[in-house]
Parts: sequence; C-alpha cells; structure tokens
Amino acid sequence: MIHLFILGISFLNLTILSSTLPAMPYAYDALEPNIDAKTMEIHYTKHYQTYLTNFTKAIAGTAAEEKSVEDILATADKNLPAIRNNGGGYYNHNLYFSLLSPTPALAPSGPLALAIDAKWGSLATFKEAFNKAAMGRFGSGWAWLVVQNGALDICSTPNQDNPIMPDAGCSGKPILCIDVWEHAYYLKYQNRRADYITAFWNVMDWDVVEKLYEKAVQ
Ligand code: MN
Repeated sequence: MIHLFILGISFLNLTILSSTLPAMPYAYDALEPNIDAKTMEIHYTKHYQTYLTNFTKAIAGTAAEEKSVEDILATADKNLPAIRNNGGGYYNHNLYFSLLSPTPALAPSGPLALAIDAKWGSLATFKEAFNKAAMGRFGSGWAWLVVQNGALDICSTPNQDNPIMPDAGCSGKPILCIDVWEHAYYLKYQNRRADYITAFWNVMDWDVVEKLYEKAVQ
C-alpha cells in the first residue's frame, strides 16, 4: 500500500491511504483573532483526526477501502452509522479546513460571482441566506453551499451528514461549508454562534470555493 495523504480538495477523489493527518498547513494561531489557536489545535488534531481514525477502522478489511471517500459516502445510508458519522466527519472537516486561510480571498470572482449574483442578487444577500441556514441548524451540524445540476443552493445537515449522502435532507456537490458544532467555536465564542459565523467569513478563502465550483459545473 502506498502511504500518501494530501490535505485539501483534491484528496477527496482518492482512496484513504493513511490514517494520520498531515500537519496543518499554517500555524494554529494564524487565524487569530477570528478563530483562536486552542480551538484550531483541538479541532484539527483531536476532532478531525479522530474521525479519520474511526473511519479508517470502520472500512478496514472491506471493499470500501478501495473506493474514493465520495463513493463510500454516496452509499452510506443510515444503516451504516460508523461509516456515515466518521466518514462524514472526515469529509466535512477536510473541506472545512481547506477553506480556511490566513490570507483568504474575501469575495468570489468570475463565473461563481456571476452565479451568486444571479441567484441571490449580491454577495451580501447570499451571506445572509447562508448565515440563516447556519444559525437555523438546531444542535450540531453544518451549513452548505452546493451545486446540483449546475445550480447553486444553500442547505444544512445534522451531525456529520453531508449533501453527498443519501437521506441527508439536501443533496449536491459541496463547495463551501461551515461547521456549527460547538467544538468549532465554544472556547472563544461560548454560545455566540452568530459571532463565530461572522468571523468565519474573515478567514474563508473564496479562491478555494471558486475552484470547486468550476469543477462541479464542468
Ligand atoms: Mn468540527
């Protein structure tokens, strides 16, 4: 077995080849004051790593080991909770950490910017709708911007569900997400999810979203 692990959006088309995450590509405090160093460290090295560890265990010795993460999740129904929860946790955090940057592009450009304006009228109105989905997710979960049949849509999912799974309550190819589990913000923001969401936009790199959008509409 070749042990190769790439952090980032290109990885998700590959099979799992290592159960150890690479080091984060920037320092834990690089997103201060928007996301604090302790939260980044625990979130990445404990929560994210644990999902990968348990996902690797859940698929060990099965045919899923040879499949891409996306293919595994596309058939991970609710009768497969270990794969759904841990594989979802792995996939969702991979996207989330890929989107965060100390030097983010703070607005989209090109075809994605045009598509957002066409659907929501402006970036500000899009953000209001996305924030509403993130605020409205009761308990732990995620909000998403997805591409389905070439069109943009916003939705949210509970737990570690995501839009590529069956029966997740929304479907499409994820191109942007926010983690609204309390572990993503509680140390700094306590119960103030809205403040965390506002801060998230200061460190969310639209260049990454654009690349995913262009791939999703090909
Ligand atoms: Mn998380």
